[in-house]
Amino acid sequence: MMNIGIPRALLYYQYFPMWKTFFEELGGEVVISPPTTKAMIASGASRVVADTCLPVKVFLGHVISLIGKCDYIFIPTIRSLKSNIYNCSKFLGLPDMTKAVITECPPVLDVIIDINKGMRNIYRAIDKLGRYFTRDTSKVKSASLDAWQVHLNYRHLMSNHGLIPPQAMEGISSIDKADDTYVRTEMGINSGNPASTQTNIALIGHPYLLYDEYLNHRLIHRLEQAGIRVLTPEMLTSDELESASVKLAGTTYWTYGEEVVGAGEHYLQNGADGIIGILTFGCGPDSLMMEMVRRRANRLRTTPFMSLVLEEHTAETGIITRLEAFLDMINRRKRGGQ
Ligand code: SF4
Repeated sequence: MMNIGIPRALLYYQYFPMWKTFFEELGGEVVISPPTTKAMIASGASRVVADTCLPVKVFLGHVISLIGKCDYIFIPTIRSLKSNIYNCSKFLGLPDMTKAVITECPPVLDVIIDINKGMRNIYRAIDKLGRYFTRDTSKVKSASLDAWQVHLNYRHLMSNHGLIPPQAMEGISSIDKADDTYVRTEMGINSGNPASTQTNIALIGHPYLLYDEYLNHRLIHRLEQAGIRVLTPEMLTSDELESASVKLAGTTYWTYGEEVVGAGEHYLQNGADGIIGILTFGCGPDSLMMEMVRRRANRLRTTPFMSLVLEEHTAETGIITRLEAFLDMINRRKRGGQ
């Protein structure tokens, strides 16, 4: 049986259930790298120049941790999923960069996804990927259709039930289809809309920053411990993200514009008590998009906004202090009805 390594970084949080289904249906075994550690970041950072963005260093650290544990590493090139909207350039060259800086990396399974080249091109790319496992085209087609359905269910669990990716991954592994009753009763989650009585804080940023607990010092856990309801971009539908993003920024050229600008605008207009923007040192797109949301929040003056910049040396105490001050301010506003 062929072992496929999947780094627990970058696109993992968006697509892991889909990838796992595809490979397992074709007879592969999926191996995931362990959660991020300090040593992983150091090993990834040692392979690239210092001003490379933190998430790419983390990704490389995860790849290194998979050496010797798998036959192949899956590193897709997802260029574009919407007409004329492209992923950050770091994603476009990820397989080549990984092979260049980690020469001992296991062979890379790459698939190029670019909607601008037409669906036929995407089908061909998926078929080529499937041929590593079987020459039976219908088996590859069936695995890709099942994988796509799992992805839709995964998105449904997040956007319709207010789950974050780790919860949705757990939900998707327990049920074949997104079963509303199961989700409400077993997962104890209500809906994706802000609750009126509880304090709601929206976190905006890339999934690989919001859900990597080591990088963000367990931010979601800390907020939930403080009785806060956490809202994230994944809890919104694509339509909600897109319409809010267009409203604030017009046409965006980066895929992640919707996660930051769209989610920021949506939660500014829909009842979040505060917004925390999570970004990272060395990210060009974020420095523009997060600033757009910050300025919008300043103009509206209805929702406090705070940004947290993560980098290798971000101290936990610094995050905790800023978080406590932000929550204090929000509680005072709520009590004072301001
Ligand atoms: S969007 Fe920013 S953080 Fe993400 S890979 Fe690109 S440069 Fe790095």
